[in-house]
Amino acid sequence: MVVELISVGTEVLLGNIVNTNAAYLAERCAYLGLSCYYQSVVGDNAERLLGTINTALSRADMIILCGGLGPTEDDITKETAAKALSLELEMHEQSKERIQAYFDKKGLKIADSNWKQAMIPKDAIVLPNDNGTAPGVIMEKNGKTVILLPGPPNELIPMFEDSVAPYIMEKSSAIIYSQVVKLCGIGESAVEDQIKDMVGNSNPTVATYAKTGEVHIRVTAKADDEKEAKKLVKPIVKELKSRFSLYVYTSNAEVSLEAATVELLEKNGLTITTAESCTGGMVASRIINVPGASEIYKEGFVTYSNKAKKLRLNVKKATLSKYGAVSEQTAKEMSKGACINTKADVSIATTGIAGPDGGSEEKPVGLVYISCTICGKTKVKECHFSGNRMKIREAATTEALTFLRMCVLEYYSEKHFA
Ligand code: ATP
Repeated sequence: MVVELISVGTEVLLGNIVNTNAAYLAERCAYLGLSCYYQSVVGDNAERLLGTINTALSRADMIILCGGLGPTEDDITKETAAKALSLELEMHEQSKERIQAYFDKKGLKIADSNWKQAMIPKDAIVLPNDNGTAPGVIMEKNGKTVILLPGPPNELIPMFEDSVAPYIMEKSSAIIYSQVVKLCGIGESAVEDQIKDMVGNSNPTVATYAKTGEVHIRVTAKADDEKEAKKLVKPIVKELKSRFSLYVYTSNAEVSLEAATVELLEKNGLTITTAESCTGGMVASRIINVPGASEIYKEGFVTYSNKAKKLRLNVKKATLSKYGAVSEQTAKEMSKGACINTKADVSIATTGIAGPDGGSEEKPVGLVYISCTICGKTKVKECHFSGNRMKIREAATTEALTFLRMCVLEYYSEKHFA
């Protein structure tokens, strides 16, 4: 089944709003086994919207429109879509009651224009909106389906999950099953290079998604029942695990990088401490975000100034003056000192230049050193990140967790640890 997406709204067209709805809908439609070849954005203009809907009707089985279902004059999506299918609008009593109840609950006075939202194309399926006033609509005519969803993501997403996804699944009768393999410590292009032979597959499909410092590979199969779909996915996941071995930190969608790292430390009976400069506690925060982290995490340091690095982590004055706070030597002393002072088995330290100021030719913005000490042995990594201050700090945090994980794995494999 071919689907086409149309986002309606001048604000979206002008770039005042980032079109997150389109990204969400495209991903969900692909997951549900629909093929999407075109997406459009149209402003609040009835003529151009009608033209866009007609074009979409000529090349897709299903059209999903989002936005423009509100009560104001420039909210024209429903009227225009009904016109494209030659359907009359009529008052939908249940929607009218829901709108009344919504306003009563909020203690707000209802405006006459709000009743416009209870006008529904004849014989359409009405999708309840528990988070706003505009109901969603599914219209079917001459083998085509047109679905209208409200613009605010907090209304659109629950409506899609609760009403539209089950409708699509029932229509397609196929079961969609997917599994995600999550990787860290390897770039997206390197991953893509190694799965070139799989990316063209149609069932199961294999797609990569880059996250900050991570790459996720989603394997999705379509079959008549779940057992059959799982059977298609299983060998591909196995192959991916074997191709990417240590880079794979989980094949469970629910498990985060920090959760996998905490589990690894726990499994090896290792306690950890953090010594952070440029990440300012973000590494500690991600570790502590994992339930049960208290088993492995006792205490940590945010040592932003040179004074704090000397006082809390025993970094030598001579090291700081000779090599600077952002250096391999300082990072090393930070992680060593953190272990000594807390008696933790492992420590991870970060020191870098997050910008926008403070960079030089020799030490540019984005330069970060990450050091890991495990049972007295220390290894340092030099990284170069780009982006604004927050992006650099986030990338450094993810990289610190990745480096920590890799160091623990290497330590136990006794292959390369210095
Ligand atoms: P309402 O009933 O709130 O008026 P609506 O269906 O008319 O909803 P719009 O008026 O088009 O929707 O948009 C309302 C808000 O929804 C926007 O200000 C924006 O915050 C969000 N929104 C709209 N379209 C998108 C989009 N494509 N992606 C992300 N957010 C969007």
